[in-house]
Amino acid sequence: MSFTATQIAQFHRSAHSNCDLSLRLQANKVKTAEADAAAQVSKTKSALFARGHKWEKHLYDILHDQRLLIHLQKDSATGDTWDQFIRAVQDDNRPLFYLFGLEFHAPEHLSQIEIRTLKPDFVRVEKEGSKTTLTVIEAKSSASLKVSHQIQICIYALALAESLKTNYPDVSISDEGIVWMPPTLTTSIWPSVIDDVSVQNATFSISTVQPLVTTILNKRIPHILKQELEAVEWGVGERCAGCEFEDGCSIRARKMGDVSLVGGSRGKERAALKYAVDSFRRKQSQPLMQTKIDASSEKDWNAFWKSDQSNFPISDVHDLHAALHDAEFIASLRAQSPTTFSSLGKILCLQVVVPVMGQVERCSMSESPVIQCALQSKVVPKSQPYLLFPRVEHDSMHFSVLKDPESDKIVAISFLHLSRKSGSVTIECNTMIGSSVAEQINLPKALVTRIAASVKATVRAAREPPRIQFYVFSINEREDLINMLLNEACGTQLETNAYLVDVQFCMNALVDNPDVLRAPFFPSELIHYASLGLGSNVPRLKADLQYYLQSLEGTMSVPTGTVVALKERLAAIVGEKVGPSLIPRIAVIKDALSATCAFPLFRLTLESVTKFFDIPTPSTEDDLFALWTRDGGLSDELKIDMMNRSIAQANLCDRLRNMLAEANLIQKVLVNSLPPFQVINLKLSDDPLLSRLMFATQYEMVRDLQEVRSSRFLETEMILLKYCGPDDSFPKTFKVLSNLSAIQSSINGQTGATDISNDFKKFDWLLVDCNKLEAGQSFNDLLHMNQLRNVANQYVRLALDETEIMQIGAAVSFANVENVVDNIVTLDLVIARNAGFTLKTLDRQPKHFALMRRYVDWNTSKIARALIDVEVLRLQRVATRVPAPLMIRLLSENNAFNEIEFQSSSAHEDLEIEGNLYTTYREIYNLEGLRDHERVLHFLDSQHRAMKGILKNVVSVVWGPPGNGKTHSLALAALRLIEINARKNRPYRIIMSAFTHEAINNFMEKVQELLKIRKSLLFQYFDKSEWVEQLEVSKLEYSNDYVIPTSNWCICAGTVWCVVPVAVRKSEWALTTYIPPLCNRSFAKTFQKYPNKRHSFDTLIIDEGSQFLTCHAALAFQAIDSTDVRSKKVIIAGDDKQLSPILKGLYPTDPAVRPIFGSILSCIMRSNSHLTHMLKENFRFVTPLCKFTQQLYTGTTDGFDPRRGNQGLIRDAVQIWKNGSDTDRAMLFNTLMWKATETPLSTIVLSKALDLQSSLEDHIHREADLVVKLVRFFHTIEPEATMFVITPHRLQRTIITKRVTSELGPELLSKHTVKIDTVERMQGRQADIIFACFGFSSHSPTFHNELDFIYNIRRINVSLSRPRAMCILIASHNLLNPPAFVLNEAQSREGFSHLLRFQRASSYVEWGGSGEDEIVLEALLEELTV
Ligand code: SF4
Repeated sequence: MSFTATQIAQFHRSAHSNCDLSLRLQANKVKTAEADAAAQVSKTKSALFARGHKWEKHLYDILHDQRLLIHLQKDSATGDTWDQFIRAVQDDNRPLFYLFGLEFHAPEHLSQIEIRTLKPDFVRVEKEGSKTTLTVIEAKSSASLKVSHQIQICIYALALAESLKTNYPDVSISDEGIVWMPPTLTTSIWPSVIDDVSVQNATFSISTVQPLVTTILNKRIPHILKQELEAVEWGVGERCAGCEFEDGCSIRARKMGDVSLVGGSRGKERAALKYAVDSFRRKQSQPLMQTKIDASSEKDWNAFWKSDQSNFPISDVHDLHAALHDAEFIASLRAQSPTTFSSLGKILCLQVVVPVMGQVERCSMSESPVIQCALQSKVVPKSQPYLLFPRVEHDSMHFSVLKDPESDKIVAISFLHLSRKSGSVTIECNTMIGSSVAEQINLPKALVTRIAASVKATVRAAREPPRIQFYVFSINEREDLINMLLNEACGTQLETNAYLVDVQFCMNALVDNPDVLRAPFFPSELIHYASLGLGSNVPRLKADLQYYLQSLEGTMSVPTGTVVALKERLAAIVGEKVGPSLIPRIAVIKDALSATCAFPLFRLTLESVTKFFDIPTPSTEDDLFALWTRDGGLSDELKIDMMNRSIAQANLCDRLRNMLAEANLIQKVLVNSLPPFQVINLKLSDDPLLSRLMFATQYEMVRDLQEVRSSRFLETEMILLKYCGPDDSFPKTFKVLSNLSAIQSSINGQTGATDISNDFKKFDWLLVDCNKLEAGQSFNDLLHMNQLRNVANQYVRLALDETEIMQIGAAVSFANVENVVDNIVTLDLVIARNAGFTLKTLDRQPKHFALMRRYVDWNTSKIARALIDVEVLRLQRVATRVPAPLMIRLLSENNAFNEIEFQSSSAHEDLEIEGNLYTTYREIYNLEGLRDHERVLHFLDSQHRAMKGILKNVVSVVWGPPGNGKTHSLALAALRLIEINARKNRPYRIIMSAFTHEAINNFMEKVQELLKIRKSLLFQYFDKSEWVEQLEVSKLEYSNDYVIPTSNWCICAGTVWCVVPVAVRKSEWALTTYIPPLCNRSFAKTFQKYPNKRHSFDTLIIDEGSQFLTCHAALAFQAIDSTDVRSKKVIIAGDDKQLSPILKGLYPTDPAVRPIFGSILSCIMRSNSHLTHMLKENFRFVTPLCKFTQQLYTGTTDGFDPRRGNQGLIRDAVQIWKNGSDTDRAMLFNTLMWKATETPLSTIVLSKALDLQSSLEDHIHREADLVVKLVRFFHTIEPEATMFVITPHRLQRTIITKRVTSELGPELLSKHTVKIDTVERMQGRQADIIFACFGFSSHSPTFHNELDFIYNIRRINVSLSRPRAMCILIASHNLLNPPAFVLNEAQSREGFSHLLRFQRASSYVEWGGSGEDEIVLEALLEELTV
């Protein structure tokens, strides 16, 4: 049994396609000509293969023409011929050339499996003196570097290195692997030279990939090959697309009653189902294994399954069914593994699966429609509400998308417009093909123009607004279309404003909640800022008024009248509810099918379901792609086949609707009737970047909203409450009947430092009457956001209008969780006035309620306001010919910061004063007798360079790894700026903002500490300094008694939401009196109370800039913006290798597009590197930790300057441990302490024996065992040491916190000796000892599904860079030997590489085997003592 390198690599091509059984069947395949001919090779695969060959040949020709190629003869480097090969290479005098045609055999000891002849595409030869370096290069016609490429190249490189290492010391193999890829996938513009511009040169490190490849070759594949065939892991589902064994596996699944029959279940879900079945069988003492099959080849295997004897007595699905009816088993499963229990509910479509349901009479536990479907092999309607499939429609548009799997680009789109008028149907068909690069670039435009024209024509022709619905088959198609349009809306291709409106119009139609994107969510701010508040010096006021009136009134004709009349007309509209209600615009047919019905199909593809419904089956995606590659998109056949897919979709919708109607389920299933189609796009800004930023900000909100809403539909384990009272007052208390942990974890999640919106009481829950659950599920969050927006900050009780009362008032109230004690939750409620759901409802029977998450977002509105404010400022400056405001310049002008006018106006003078101060503080620093902490006012080398940069420029970036004193440098810089200006007798005010309260508190503490030292030195070394006494240092907190500092010298800090009221513009204050309803009442209140306290600031400091979105910066910038930008300063500090904001949209990555969609730090750093100053002194780490972290930032272990670090702690701990008589002498601690003197880094790997525990909870409990032991041990020997337990998952945090509290007492946590929290909330903090808990990764199903999350380099960097003295990584074998798919993304590749570095630099101990940790190693102790 032998494999080619390509086969091994292909087996690992993607996380979802990988199947052990397919490898095994491949290996067992009977190799005959007939079998090969019969094997169905995917057309997509063969098309790609042909293209790959073409690309390789193309590169060969280029190198040949450039005389850079040696074409080796066949077998040129096998056996004895290596000498000949090396001589040929060394005799060639060229310093650089390439080899083609190298073929050789892998050395035997490289792998435990037989590898066939290796044939790398090219080998680059570089010579320097007597040294020769060989680099393996593969030619791939892909668009990106893939896992399979890396594995293939790594096998070549390892085999070459092994073959040459003994006899040829002057020849080395490069650690770099290279893939040459074409710049695009069209043959017409393949390059004519090989250089970095023409050819995509993807590189990776062989040494990172090597451990994975070694495992694959020596463990993973040999293990699969050794197993009994029936024991090899498998499961039919989505991944089987294109697999040649699908028929056989489908038969097998049916005969075995395999869990694959539960439609739509994938890896993690299948594991949960298997776990439930196996647990049930264990409980019943049933056998877990199947009968042995006598099959030595794939032919025997298939024959066996097709034969009659293969009906197995054991069926997973039958047992699953039986398990669901065993209440005792279900209760124990729920107690032992809530995650499995919850997955079970979701997969099996059990609406409410909790034992308490007996009390509330909603138990659908008895029969799962999904199980029924699997048992009876027929479609079973699920009878659950589904939001996005309409009951009625006039017109429908059906889209079909063809994507090139290699380039990930859309190459063809078809859409079918069916217009149904008075019984007749008109059909408009369109298929757009991107057969060339130019056409692909123009595809979005062609689509947008067609859709817009088509819909507008329909709307114009209709007597009443028509009901139009959009459809796609799969969520992928919808995402592809949205991302294409998002790129269009946010990228560089926009041509005209009218086109932008059309793009946004199409986006509106494609997302679930278009209200946001078409902007009626902000009408008051929009009009308030952009029209009414502008005054006479802004051009096009009348045109703007006409535009908004036209949009808001929905008229086709342009409104006429004077500016005053138009203003009055507009003012009359503002404040009223604008635009139609929430409209579901797009239906994803596949989702509708799987949400409303259970199908006896392994994969719901358009082809499979049309067959099922007896509709003409369209061509498969594979067939379409083959047509596209065959003819370059030129054939009519492709166009017809694309259109047939759209027609099939339309038929499918009709059939589904009819079927549900026949089953009398349509009212229940299709909860939405479709309102008329009426999309209004409001123009937000004339500036394209601002406009895009605004659009993206709102799009992010839409995605959040979508998640919350769909979670309400999919939730199967609800939070159920029983009302307790009091009857006559608020807040109310409820007993939690189920899912208490969901409330607890959300409370924990809210109180953290990273929750910047926590300045408000959000009422972010819905309390729903259990008898009217659908009212909660289909609750329109956005509509009620509008209603609540102006009142929520003041906690005013809600008054809804009559219609809304009809819709929700009788069943739903808004709730804020005040606290949870034991299983009693206290809720403050906002109840609709006059609604059916009143205080009395609470008293009546039944008293059961469900608590559901509500979508609340006050912040997007504020950001929108800030961006519009920038737009107004920009317009005013255009009118007065003054340079654009700072925010605009920051967004749009790549080189703006080079200009003289953008350098600080006082730079020269300031630098001179700073020079004098530097000398003074250095003298103090060098004074004898001064205590260490008194020396901190002196800037060290890199800090001083940063300070000079700050003084020179308006904008500067202070960048540094963890522990390099960013906060200290910022605080010192703030004091120094004030001191410099005080020397000029100039008042100076500084405002600081950050993403987390933690960062703000740290900054404030640092400023206070430095100021105190400065004051203590006052009389000794300085003349009387007025500023030192007068400097006001305060934290801005959001409250009704909001205080804005008024002193001449002040430093204040607050989250960006607290900075807003400080920064609010004077024009807004004027407008609050002009049209009071338009303005946020809290602002009005603030200014009524403190009308004279508003001052502008001179410097804005943003800390943790990597988490601060560019749109947040628009808010913060308001605090300093002025007409004289050069007199202001912005200092942004951060670390781009720590956690960044999580964005849901895929924004343009084109280097030509300014990176405005991420953090402000990356926005500035990427194109203004000369403004960046790196801090090099390190004040946190002990030297080995410093060297380890340094590698990530600079690639070497030198360069940082470790100054402090709690070195003494390790020394003391080892000493105490050696001397102590009552310290734990288990092997684990012996090893840890013994090694601690060599390295403060330790890796503790959970023994594989623990992996037998199969539920996630079991794994976390074992990890918690270890954490408890470690915390106890270190606390015993070093009671003063602070410890962090970093848990990537919230579930880990919950379990470990409980265990530490119950076994070690609550004081450790309450006194902050130990903190347990997620990575996100540990960023910016530090402790003496860190336990980074990645042991949960031993749970394989979770681990395999979370590779991107676990190996994210930023998350790993933050986890491992918190300690001052010691860092202990709790790992699993999985974590250190991940599947190759970890190489898929650059972020996770880098994360894995960083973990490997840690492991190599750390001590290593395995824990949890059979009593190992209890063994006392006296010999070890003695050795240490000696
Ligand atoms: S059909 Fe699916 S389960 Fe069967 S071998 Fe192929 S990928 Fe594996």
